[in-house]
Amino acid sequence: MRKAIEKYLHTEMDNKASYVHSRKRTKIVATVGPACDTYEGLLNLVKAGVNVFRLNFSHGAHEDKKKIIDHIRQINKTEPFNIAILGDLQGPKLRVGELENGKIELRPGHEFIFTTEKQIGTEEKIYVSYKNLTTDVKPGERIFLDDGKMEITVVEILNDKEVKVRVILGGTLLPKKGVNLPDSALSQPAMTEKDREDLEFILANQLDWVALSFVRKAIDITELKSIIKERNSKVKVIAKIEMPEALKNLREIILESDGVMVARGDLGVEVPIEQVPVIQKDIIRKCMHRAKPVIVATQMMESMMDRTKPNRSEVSDVANAVLEGADAVMLSGETAMGSYPTLVVETMSKIILGVENSVYDYNRDDILTPQPHSPTFLSDAICYSACKLADDSRSDAIIGMTQSGYTAFMLSSYRPKSPVYIFSKEKTLISQLSLSWGVRAFYYAEEESLDDIIFDQIDILKHRGFIKSGDVVVNTGSTPVKLHLPTNIIKITKVD
Ligand code: PEP
Repeated sequence: MRKAIEKYLHTEMDNKASYVHSRKRTKIVATVGPACDTYEGLLNLVKAGVNVFRLNFSHGAHEDKKKIIDHIRQINKTEPFNIAILGDLQGPKLRVGELENGKIELRPGHEFIFTTEKQIGTEEKIYVSYKNLTTDVKPGERIFLDDGKMEITVVEILNDKEVKVRVILGGTLLPKKGVNLPDSALSQPAMTEKDREDLEFILANQLDWVALSFVRKAIDITELKSIIKERNSKVKVIAKIEMPEALKNLREIILESDGVMVARGDLGVEVPIEQVPVIQKDIIRKCMHRAKPVIVATQMMESMMDRTKPNRSEVSDVANAVLEGADAVMLSGETAMGSYPTLVVETMSKIILGVENSVYDYNRDDILTPQPHSPTFLSDAICYSACKLADDSRSDAIIGMTQSGYTAFMLSSYRPKSPVYIFSKEKTLISQLSLSWGVRAFYYAEEESLDDIIFDQIDILKHRGFIKSGDVVVNTGSTPVKLHLPTNIIKITKVD
């Protein structure tokens, strides 16, 4: 062993490498809330298979989030994990206000007024937290309340603060419930004042990923990225796809973002719910094509909020997301507020492993081959060939190195059969890559010669129990080392 790699072998990693983390390729994102926000609670979830923790900025104070961040960072320091933290910005979510007597019964045919002036709601008049309401909606357009449980139609714009509406599908309206305007072109900015404050907190605490809710156009992402760049932050951006307008601009949004979330909660309200499965499949395929990590989110294991076993349909839902090639599946209320957060993650890990251990073909179609017109064509071709070579030679590992993350995202996007081990001297990338399918990343900063680098990387993986003598591994790299060029070589090695 070279002396230079001793510092990369610290901690008790070698004997812990058998955790579920080393075996499953599809990652788990878990939302943190009161059900799991202690050090032990978070560690239990990590041991059960969580790769990324999501902090939902729709709820809770910054000081509580700070404690959670400290716990996760402590786990990363003392345990053999690089768990990523994703800050999820609330975005311009519209809501009704407080209501007289705590609820209002909305009966079909009943007409009332939506006002943009803050007040306690009555059967005649209810406040909506959207000041552009009267200019953005038109008579005949639909308004959904409480995740689409109630449907309202616009009758008349009365003045610059009030809209007369009629109930189509009734129900009991509770205070602060969400309002969706699926037929209207919204004029509000993509980020609210609250989002900007939350973003400052996310940047100050150097979270790994930030998700933007209710993205409509690529420019929404561009604007967020320009703030991130101004602050010299390396946080990567996820576009939450949940608006019909985002579906129209999907290609540009995927190109502009670092990752994507299929946010099925609001998506299922904004578009006819029966379209969601096909939209999910389409988004996953497009993200794989562009080498962007994609998360499938919401209600994946909802019944386990208060039960110890999932519904059969939920098992199939998680399994299908895995089969479709999602990088990650996400838990929301199940881990944040449910009764069995650890059991949910254990169950989800079992479902993922069940699929991955029996199916190896992710139905990558021809369009996934490197595209000659792409500016990254040559390094894409190397990554593609490395994955093909590893599959053909039944290799036990693909080993890559990167400073931008590109090679890691690219290798992962081909969904190779062998695990992908990535080495980087960019510390932020190490945890960011926890979101990527099949990738495990390690810190490594030596730059002497490519021979030494390849030798070290194999040696580190061997010492830490990820590969063994007799295994075949495929390395990608770049030479001359000092120039940090995009990936330009492949090497195949039988491990000594
Ligand atoms: C969703 O709508 O599916 C989602 C993930 O967003 P949120 O939980 O913020 O509503």
